[in-house]
Amino acid sequence: MTDYSTSMRTDRCGDLRVDDVGRQVTLCGWVDRRREHGEHLAFIDLRDRSGVVQLVVDGAHDLRSEYVLQVSGTVRERPADTANDGLATGAIEIDATEVTVLAAAEPPPFPLDERTEVDEMLRLKHRYVDLRRPRLQRNLEVRARVNSAVRGAMEEQGFVEVETPMLIASTPEGARDFVVPSRKEPGSFYALPQSPQIFKQLCMVGGVDRYYQIARCLRDEDLRADRQFEFMQLDAEASFVSQDDVLAFISHAVSAAAEAVTGERPGEIPRMSWHEAQERFGSDKPDVRFGMELVELTEVFAGTEFRAFQASCVKGIRVPGGADASRNRLDDLTDRCKRWGAKGLVWMRVTEDGLDSPVAKFLTDDEKAALGSTMEAEVGDLLLLVADERRTVRHILGLLRVELGRPPVTEGGLHFLWVVDFPLFEGLDEAGHPIPAHHPFTMPHVDDLEALERGDLLDVRSQAYDLVLNGWELGSGSVRIHRSDVQEKIFSILGIGSDEAHAKFGFLLDAFRYGAPPHAGFAFGLDRLTAILAGEENIREVIAYPKTQSGADPLTSAPTPIDDRHLEELGLRVLPPAE
Ligand code: ASP
Repeated sequence: MTDYSTSMRTDRCGDLRVDDVGRQVTLCGWVDRRREHGEHLAFIDLRDRSGVVQLVVDGAHDLRSEYVLQVSGTVRERPADTANDGLATGAIEIDATEVTVLAAAEPPPFPLDERTEVDEMLRLKHRYVDLRRPRLQRNLEVRARVNSAVRGAMEEQGFVEVETPMLIASTPEGARDFVVPSRKEPGSFYALPQSPQIFKQLCMVGGVDRYYQIARCLRDEDLRADRQFEFMQLDAEASFVSQDDVLAFISHAVSAAAEAVTGERPGEIPRMSWHEAQERFGSDKPDVRFGMELVELTEVFAGTEFRAFQASCVKGIRVPGGADASRNRLDDLTDRCKRWGAKGLVWMRVTEDGLDSPVAKFLTDDEKAALGSTMEAEVGDLLLLVADERRTVRHILGLLRVELGRPPVTEGGLHFLWVVDFPLFEGLDEAGHPIPAHHPFTMPHVDDLEALERGDLLDVRSQAYDLVLNGWELGSGSVRIHRSDVQEKIFSILGIGSDEAHAKFGFLLDAFRYGAPPHAGFAFGLDRLTAILAGEENIREVIAYPKTQSGADPLTSAPTPIDDRHLEELGLRVLPPAE
């Protein structure tokens, strides 16, 4: 047990119990709530990080919400009828004999109870007040526990913590860089790291063997519930290892984190190929907490007369009990699918009298029967079908499945999943060059080197893998290319000429000429892991000082303009905003 006593207090508010009855204590904290009790007496809930305790104070007129107090008194048992079972300290109260106001406080900008919904801008502007709420105190503790467990697990496995620089040249994660102008070399810029990728690979060339870092990464991308400009990753790299070794290292780290928060160690993390994930869940980050898997129907409609189903792929999902969806709701789902890129959505209600659907009349009895049995449809279900090119079908139904079936973050337990055998390239860009699915240093799958030679690029798998938790992508990694000849081949396929490659990554390519060990690594987001373990849907709830959705910091007003002198020193001129 940690000793929280200091020269100003004997105990923390939330730690006192019936066993402490009779003790003389001194506590410090904030006035959470006060209730009058007769003319002179007041009940005051005093709050600190550990929780609240009830004080009984005589003559408390000037003690207002959020005043900071030091209180001495005796712990006494509450009369039975006033005990509060819902509160850890609910069986006792403090008979306060001395109250010192350590700091007065203006009325808080918003109520600190958990019941009131407060506008996020207001919360972030006064984050120091917001942080006093038990929910955020708890989330910060969960976060610290996750960090500590992850750190411990990596160290146990012989990983050495190495810090890499923040002011660097561009990194290859594929997002937009945040840049920092150089004063010494006006017109030149540092990039803030999107990840320590290159440095950790250089650490391997440098013989570090097992590297890790709890690293801050910065990417100038649009923000979402699970994305901030800056975020923390557990970043790791190891030499003389295979994919299996990396999966084992990282499984150990995330399992330790989950255990540190929930008290239970998750079982072995299952693996699924990228292809299977796409076929069954329409996603490379399947949420396997629920069913509603994509059902293959291409064969069922192979000879159909119904034009809309004459496509290279037809798949569907079954929403159990979904037949009561209103026409409005179905129209809304259809619109949404169109916005996601579908030509349309076919819906069918399964009723006692057969399929109720605008397209039912275009299907033969055999098709309807085969559809029903393939989808294991039952009366009361809703069937949703998409026909298109395979990629599109999977994508649309994957989104629809999540939209209709995803449980809240606090339900369904923790389902970690390794998604392996990612394709090396995720498609072609406008110039016809393949786009790397991970980053350009990812080793192709050993069985697909021939396909690479042949130029069947989209068939080439990579030795890249993702870790998924409850449908959130926690992180990615890969076995790296450690031979400069293979690396040059990949660069040339990507359309990165040797001049460009040398300008961008010359130092890495140079390093590889001096003896690079085979190596592989991984990185996962600590904000996302913490959010799920803390039962939060939004990572902003587990970050002490997050930015808003638009990337602003209402607390410090960042980003702010800088003055002309500073601009001049940096050799910069700001253009007027574009029309
Ligand atoms: N640097 C990669 C990322 O941030 C992870 C890795 O490949 O190790 O996604």
